[in-house]
Amino acid sequence: MSDKYDVVVIGAGPAGYVAAIRCAQLGLTTACVDDWVDEQGKPRLGGTCLNVGCIPSKSLLESSELYARCQHELGEHGIKTQDVSLDLAAMMARKNKIISDLTLGIAALFKSNQVSWIKGRGRLLAEKRVEITAGKKVTSVEADNIIIATGSSSIDITAAPVDDEFIVDSTGALCFSEVPKRLGVIGAGVIGLELGSVWKRLGAEVVVLEAQDAFLPITDEQIARDSLKEFKKQGLDIRLNARLMQSNIKAKGKNKVVEVHYQDDKGDQKETFDKLIIAVGRHPNSDNVFDEEVDLLLDERFCIHVNEQCETSLPGVYAIGDVVRGPMLAHKGSEEGIMVAERIAGNHGEVNYDLIPSVIYTHPEIAWVGKNEQHLKTIGENYKAGIFPFAASGRARALGTTTGFVKILSHAETDRILGVHVFGPQASELIAQAVVAMEMGASAEDVGLTTFAHPTLSESFHEAALAVNGNAIHVANKRSKK
Ligand code: FAD
Ligand code: NAD
Repeated sequence: MSDKYDVVVIGAGPAGYVAAIRCAQLGLTTACVDDWVDEQGKPRLGGTCLNVGCIPSKSLLESSELYARCQHELGEHGIKTQDVSLDLAAMMARKNKIISDLTLGIAALFKSNQVSWIKGRGRLLAEKRVEITAGKKVTSVEADNIIIATGSSSIDITAAPVDDEFIVDSTGALCFSEVPKRLGVIGAGVIGLELGSVWKRLGAEVVVLEAQDAFLPITDEQIARDSLKEFKKQGLDIRLNARLMQSNIKAKGKNKVVEVHYQDDKGDQKETFDKLIIAVGRHPNSDNVFDEEVDLLLDERFCIHVNEQCETSLPGVYAIGDVVRGPMLAHKGSEEGIMVAERIAGNHGEVNYDLIPSVIYTHPEIAWVGKNEQHLKTIGENYKAGIFPFAASGRARALGTTTGFVKILSHAETDRILGVHVFGPQASELIAQAVVAMEMGASAEDVGLTTFAHPTLSESFHEAALAVNGNAIHVANKRSKK
């Protein structure tokens, strides 16, 4: 291990490892320090995203969806099946293999790009040194530039402390060894809905307790309303305005259960679950990352304070990903990593924070980019809306997934697209075309004048764009063109 680098990155999640690879590609000598180890104590690259986040959750969402479709939907296609049964251990093994392949892939990328992987815990010291603690060994390295990418962790709540057996966070909820009969979820946010869906599809009775009285307030209001109805229809028992007060682990026969006390509009309530998932948000990993003598500013949410270019209060020290402001999303962190690498190398680099897509991987999926109607109304922007329901899409009918719609919002005078909201099949893929169109400053008319292959789900994006100006073909327009 060298003692001096052009760049040292602390943290090898999707923000840090991408930054490190790009720095090395740009000819900078680069090291990446990371302290993640798997259950066997083996160091692993990829951070939360690969090990206990995006990838394992999507693997289980895919497997559980196939299981549910085999049980409930194949008959409609004229396919007869018998005795569809679950091998949870095999499902988990598949998930673990995907994680292991991908994390090994990053190690290979580090090797081929000559990024030095330093295994241990990094801490920023004064004068651009990084202290590295690996077991009892403490060393340090020096760098001209330091990028902090230490990510985030699940928020704990005192009313239900995680014990990793009956009360778990998202990490525990990705590796239950059997399907809980009754599963409680605290928080109807992204994790609560995704992991609640996984276990519901695998056979659990799922009750989701959400403290707020609004469901998914971050999404388009119409999507929030329709998706709540749809998820309830799927059997997710989502209870809003439910404030958790206390929980106890209690004996029930030979087993133990979690007893949960909460309050709602009707007063004090009690529920009993075999497992309880706590999914009430994540906090930035900004503690113990820098020495007391280092004058690094944090913001009011304990994120490392940065400007638009991810520069911290210290020259030559940058911070990216979940540890800084903005949505806690893997792709946001990766783009920040690339921006910082380019800027360190003296190139141009920026992130368009207005156009970061969001996806919730439920069934159907929810995805959006740009502004929603609530926001446009609040800021007094004049806009037009075009909606195309998947029920009118031939491809969605062939797929057997007709719930939901594409909604495009564009400026009332210029027609420039301001926001796109999708609730429906493959929304996560469809939203990419909206991001590209908006990055290029497209109007709804531009998209309307573009040819889309038939029959595809993308045609719904095309038709929604046509609907903005009253020109949709396969659905009645609200305002017909004069
Ligand atoms: P992390 O991925 O958290 O990585 C930080 C790394 O730094 C870790 O390896 C950590 O061990 C290491 N580290 C921390 N402190 C130190 C230190 N002092 N020294 C050395 N190493 C240190 N986002 C999406 O965009 N799409 C999804 O579908 C999605 N699904 C998710 C599902 C779940 C269940 C969860 C929990 C999260 C999900 N996310 C998703 C969020 C996504 O995982 C995060 O936004 C992303 O991982 C953040 O990347 P990061 O590099 O900033 O931090
Ligand atoms: P979240 O912020 O999405 O949702 C947390 C929910 O818990 C909120 O609705 C909140 O009102 C509720 N809540 C908070 N305290 C509560 C309490 N005491 N009782 C009941 N409800 C309570 O957070 P999350 O679901 O934990 O996910 C964390 C972050 O991870 C997300 O914000 C997102 O950035 C990231 N993530 C992204 C994806 C994705 O991109 N598909 C998937 C999973 C996680």
